[in-house]
Amino acid sequence: FIKKKEEMLAFRKQLPIYTGRDAIIQCLETNDTVIVMGETGSGKTTQIPQFLIEAGLASKELGGVAVTQPRRVAAVNLAKRVAEETMTRLGSKVGYTVRFDDTSSPQTIIKYLTDGMLLREILSDELLLRYKVIVLDEAHERTLRTDMLFGMIKKIQKVRLQKHAEDESIQPLKIVIMSATLDAEKFSEFFNNAKILYVSGRLYPVDTMFTAEPQADYLDACLVSIFQIHVNNPKGDILVFLPGQDAIESLTALVNEYSAQLRPQQQRLLACPLFAALPPSQQQKVFDPAPENTRKVILSTNIAETSITIPGIKYVIDCGLAKLRGFNPKIGVESLLLHPISKSSAWQRTGRAGREAAGVCYRLYTEGAFRDLEDDTVPEIRRCNLAAAVLSLKATGIENILEFDYMDRPSRASLVRALEELYALGAIDDKGNLSDLGKQMAEFPLDPTYSKVLIQSKEYGCSLEVIAIISLLSVDSIFFTPSDKREQASEARKKFIHPDGDHLTLLNVLKSYWEVKGDIEWCKENFINNRNIKIALEVRDQLVRFCERIDMNPNSTCGSDTDNVLKCFLTGFFQNTALLQPDGSYKSVAGSQLVKIHPGSAMFGKRVEGILYNELVFTTKHYVRGVSAIQSAWLPLAAPKYFNNIPPHLMQQYQQQQQNQQQPVQRIFHPQ
Ligand code: ADP
Ligand code: MG
Repeated sequence: FIKKKEEMLAFRKQLPIYTGRDAIIQCLETNDTVIVMGETGSGKTTQIPQFLIEAGLASKELGGVAVTQPRRVAAVNLAKRVAEETMTRLGSKVGYTVRFDDTSSPQTIIKYLTDGMLLREILSDELLLRYKVIVLDEAHERTLRTDMLFGMIKKIQKVRLQKHAEDESIQPLKIVIMSATLDAEKFSEFFNNAKILYVSGRLYPVDTMFTAEPQADYLDACLVSIFQIHVNNPKGDILVFLPGQDAIESLTALVNEYSAQLRPQQQRLLACPLFAALPPSQQQKVFDPAPENTRKVILSTNIAETSITIPGIKYVIDCGLAKLRGFNPKIGVESLLLHPISKSSAWQRTGRAGREAAGVCYRLYTEGAFRDLEDDTVPEIRRCNLAAAVLSLKATGIENILEFDYMDRPSRASLVRALEELYALGAIDDKGNLSDLGKQMAEFPLDPTYSKVLIQSKEYGCSLEVIAIISLLSVDSIFFTPSDKREQASEARKKFIHPDGDHLTLLNVLKSYWEVKGDIEWCKENFINNRNIKIALEVRDQLVRFCERIDMNPNSTCGSDTDNVLKCFLTGFFQNTALLQPDGSYKSVAGSQLVKIHPGSAMFGKRVEGILYNELVFTTKHYVRGVSAIQSAWLPLAAPKYFNNIPPHLMQQYQQQQQNQQQPVQRIFHPQ
């Protein structure tokens, strides 16, 4: 035990940040707000919270330290790491809180949490009195939630200082903003000219290469580069930045396939995928040293850009793209769009090759293309749907959201659109005040569309089904398709397919899963991702508890009358709908955009009057995923405020349907 403790201390002492420990502590002591800049891996996120506790600047009595992360993987891993460094059990002194998973306890004085969770805590503890220090980490990512926190925390700090003058028991709040890359001056200005602290990291020179020509197929270019590096360059692992899970999975399969064809005397290649939705045990493989005589190729989203430090990287391949959540005004809905990265992202990616020794970064784009990149990524608040943000601002008592203290003000049009959407959902009334429904919606750890559907399931008598489906949609995929067994997998999947589409297909899988009590062999035979189902069921448990809290029966079921489930989904997803055109294509209701059903959907190739979809992805075309069949007549009834002119005959039909529902239905679906 003592040996381990010494080892940990020795490790901590060799981190770049440790040499500045005293100066950092002194700076934190004398300033209410500090901006800390330092290279990824220098020790900011793991060490600064410990410094604060060691120096007595935060404690159980004064209040603890909250450290926000834009990503849950980062929050979870960091808490585990710091618990290890402090030789304490996770969940005692050090813990984490992420959506649907909370290890913190009243003993916790260093808590890593997602920015969304801190926003939620403000709802119940409006001055965040349980914390003495709030650390807003990875501030450069400018996620929507982090941006909202900037304004809110700044205000909380001001109020606490005023209250402290009257009542000494109320502690002033300390704010620490951290990042590897940010416009420190701008942040300092926003936070009343806060002190800026630079932590020097160890960064070795990195050779940067560009392609001579633009690359038509970035996956192909990545594959060629990986094998060129492998065959021509000395030892060292390769980190490849890719836009998303799809690309990562295809390339993982390709690398492993080609690796098997290497000459016997050649080192092996081992592909390790890394993305937020990957189960933690698989993520851990990225950190494990490569086996003997093997070179690791880590295929990652921008999660490895700053949040996570991976040892052993000597080569970086940057495809120059990222998938960003964005509001696409042309189609009127939010989607994940493939985007060129910014210059600062490109440099951040490059830097990953120079942590331990000199390295090389291969940029799969031309030097000219690099010069054309934006300097910084546009903050989410400038490109996203703001409905969720506006709802939480309203729920924390900020009435005039147009006047809120934004670091970068969103456009008036996008704020107005968010208000319109909340109005259509019934979350605010025509005066812009939060309705009772809106208050309930803000309580759920879900996007407004989902929380509306969940709450509405009470009316439609199908909470059991809706909770199950939302939980299953919250995980990446409950299906598992090995690249060498695609046909068997799709054959096995057939028996679950519901004629009305993916939502009810998911439900069928869960029903069968429960029947066999989650048998592992059954999962294997049917190509079901057991792990993801388990995660979904944990989510389900949480949603059930939330329902009980607001007096909803989580077990009400519509039995075989499954249309109710889809009608209920429409009450939130009325904008994610498309209608069949005479030529067989589907046109979105919200933006008159042509959309294609994703080949992975149960509805692929089918022609129905209308479809409802869970998400829109843009690759080469606009694809919709999570698709189910609907009738166009359901639309105005599900969202009367959105489609505000309901023809009287439809209203009559609707009321009749509602009456028919009063009859008891056979229960065919039982929870475990
Ligand atoms: P920063 O926030 O400045 O990017 P961190 O505090 O996250 O740096 O990490 C500092 C160092 O701690 C890393 O360089 C790495 O060596 C080590 N480290 C961090 N997290 C882990 C982990 N989960 N497992 C092993 N080592 C870790
Ligand atoms: Mg960090």
